Amino acid sequence: MHYQPKTDLLENRIILITGASDGIGREAALTYARYGASVILVGRNEEKLRAVAREINTRTQTMAQWLVLDYDSANAQTCQQFGQRLASQVPRLDGVLHSAGILGDITPMSEQNPQVWERVMQVNVNVPFYLTQALLPLLLKSQAASLVFTSSSVGRQGRAGWGAYAVSKFATEGMMQVLAEEYRHRNLRVNTINPGGTRTKMRASAFPQEDPDKLKTPRDLMPLYLWLMGDDSRRKTGMCFDAQPGRKPGIAE
Ligand code: NDP
Repeated sequence: MHYQPKTDLLENRIILITGASDGIGREAALTYARYGASVILVGRNEEKLRAVAREINTRTQTMAQWLVLDYDSANAQTCQQFGQRLASQVPRLDGVLHSAGILGDITPMSEQNPQVWERVMQVNVNVPFYLTQALLPLLLKSQAASLVFTSSSVGRQGRAGWGAYAVSKFATEGMMQVLAEEYRHRNLRVNTINPGGTRTKMRASAFPQEDPDKLKTPRDLMPLYLWLMGDDSRRKTGMCFDAQPGRKPGIAE
């Protein structure tokens, strides 16, 4: 995407990022802070979150908040408590990026381990739903909030072996579409991003034989991530955006 955001694109915006400890979520948090946002980092690993917050502080001289939430053990109640705690710390949320996710097992449906299946649904679908429910009141306090979920190419077209992960990403697309319709006439837009194959630890675990140098880095994707959080995308809702349009799904050659 060729997008030249203004350097103050996200000034006075408060943006929460899940999966902010690593990969695409980490890069999005650093980028949003660089463009002026106050960021709230969410992840399960306190040490990694603290390191990202420190990096933001060093690079931008702004303070990033971080909150620990382990999706494996989170439920509707703990997410509500999380939302209430956050509401005592910030007046509103202008953006939420759901980037946390896991892959599960790449194996045929007949061999998908039910426990791993449930864990993938828990991390990729259930907790994003509980958390969204808990954060909606804060999002609705913004004049123009942006809620972004992270999808995948296998969330639009099933592919052999991608079982739980693919089904969880179809569910993510569905969640986005339902929410987008429900809030179409409010100050909340809801969209998904399909990052496309990107150089992260998740990608390396899906394709250990792939040369990572052939992949885009999280940083390369940031124009779209910025555009969706800023005012330039204000009228877009209910859409799935490709961070690497035209890229053929599957291994980089
Ligand atoms: P990474 O594995 O690099 O990062 C995943 C993030 O999710 C990390 O911050 C990780 O935390 C967090 N996370 C994982 N499990 C939990 C949990 N139980 N509780 C809380 N947080 C958790 O992945 P990517 O950055 O590559 O992926 C980001 C998103 O993009 C995902 O939704 C993924 O499905 C999607 N995606 C990625 C593609 C790619 O090629 N990279 C392609 C298509 C979609 P921790 O640091 O503690 O591990």
